[in-house]
Amino acid sequence: MNTASASFIQSLRQVLAPERVLTSDEDLVPYSFDGTAALKQRPGVVVFPLTTAEVAACVKLARDNEVPVVTRGSGTGLSGGSVPLAGCLVICLVKMDKIIELDEKNLTLRAQSGVITKEIDDACAKVGLFYPPDPGSMKISTIGGNVAENSGGLRGLKYGVTRDYVMGIEVVLPDGTQTFLGNKCVKDVAGYSMKDLFVGSEGTLGIITEVILKVLPRPKARKTMLALYDSMEKAAETISAIIAAKIIPCTLEFLDRMTVQCVEDFAKIGLPTDVEALVLMETDGHPAVVEEEAAQMMALAKANGAHDVRAAADEAEGAKLAAARRNAFSALARIRPTTILEDVTVPRSELARMVAFIDDVAKRHRLLIGTFGHLGDGNLHPTFLTNERDHEEMHRIEAALEEIVDETIRLGGTVTGEHGVGLAKKGFLKRQLGEGSYELMRSIKRALDPQGLLNPGKIFD
Ligand SMILES: Cc1cc2nc3c(=O)[nH]c(=O)nc-3n(C[C@H](O)[C@H](O)[C@H](O)COP(=O)(O)OP(=O)(O)OC[C@H]3O[C@@H](n4cnc5c(N)ncnc54)[C@H](O)[C@@H]3O)c2cc1C
Repeated sequence: MNTASASFIQSLRQVLAPERVLTSDEDLVPYSFDGTAALKQRPGVVVFPLTTAEVAACVKLARDNEVPVVTRGSGTGLSGGSVPLAGCLVICLVKMDKIIELDEKNLTLRAQSGVITKEIDDACAKVGLFYPPDPGSMKISTIGGNVAENSGGLRGLKYGVTRDYVMGIEVVLPDGTQTFLGNKCVKDVAGYSMKDLFVGSEGTLGIITEVILKVLPRPKARKTMLALYDSMEKAAETISAIIAAKIIPCTLEFLDRMTVQCVEDFAKIGLPTDVEALVLMETDGHPAVVEEEAAQMMALAKANGAHDVRAAADEAEGAKLAAARRNAFSALARIRPTTILEDVTVPRSELARMVAFIDDVAKRHRLLIGTFGHLGDGNLHPTFLTNERDHEEMHRIEAALEEIVDETIRLGGTVTGEHGVGLAKKGFLKRQLGEGSYELMRSIKRALDPQGLLNPGKIFD
């Protein structure tokens, strides 16, 4: 593989307007990292295509010059997926930001990949429709990045993740071929489901330039509640009781003591800070059903040991309570210079055990870990608050992370529930998958990208 040479950059300037080809040091700095702590690398050149044809032309040039390509959306990824290789070509899709069609007859939305996630739901809301996946980063992340990471969000328990809404994608393959996979049909079994191969492929198999998404009628009512606990076990028991009562809320999120304290300090929402666990609960749907489910959920929270349960009076207050969870990462990030956000997922039945294990690891390794996450999905975000310049502490974090990963796998979990493998988790992938499925994945990568042009060094060692 080569780095971007002067003649390669000159060729890019013949394909794209020169102001959409960045090469100066100060211009490249913002594209040298993503949201993952302690990972950075300077690319050789960053380009901003406006059309799929321009993406394909850049990929063909990169292929002919053997320059590796890293695709980038907004760079909010938390596994190092869009961190460049030294001297590589970064294709940044944020200027491909058009919503092409909102088809109310077929309940689909077609958009370019650089559209910001929240803008998709905002466009739906205007006509009474709904795009449910709502990653915490939805005000900044792109829909292409969401599809490439198969991102989840706070509503995943009831509505699923990005994959559940992708009906079609336009993709540029590593040889520069443009193709469309999928369509607007509700049913389609014509051959392999190729679009699904690209959902969650982290920029290693192709560059997604357009998407067709399924959208839903917007729920007419929503109710948000908070329950406060003096033990994590009681919070976990409430979740099991709600599911056993055959209620599937749209949101069941939790924050531990440290995260609650940091959020209150940051956002001044009026949360009590002497709790071991805070659970955010939300139900949506028909108004009558919402009222009934909310009453049942509050009763179940009390019956399972919540010492305080509150319901928001209206949507505005609900949004304020939900902000407690949405602000968790930013609030924790203020405590120490470096924030390392983990993303392990265990079967729901193992949640309390996993949270207790993380607490024990923090004590034994003398580390500051705030934990929050999607309690209803079993997806936890233990967040290490540290300083990357303190090498001794970074070694203790590595050891702690090894233990957390081993315990996750032992409990039947996964090393990443939504942030992807990228650079951050690739050392653990084989441990989770085993030789057979790891090699199957590699053989797919080799078949589609024999030159290893797209995002080399990500996902696989
Ligand atoms: C504060 C905060 C909160 C977050 N909350 C959540 C959350 O709740 N749930 C969640 O799942 N994630 C969350 N994330 C992680 C992140 O926002 C998601 O992974 C998001 O989907 C990344 O989108 P992006 O546009 O920033 O992509 P980038 O970070 O630019 O790229 C991510 C990966 O996708 C690839 N890629 C990007 N665009 C394309 C494309 N068009 N075609 C092919 N490959 C592409 C890149 O090469 C890279 O591997 C959060 C991050 C932050 C900083």
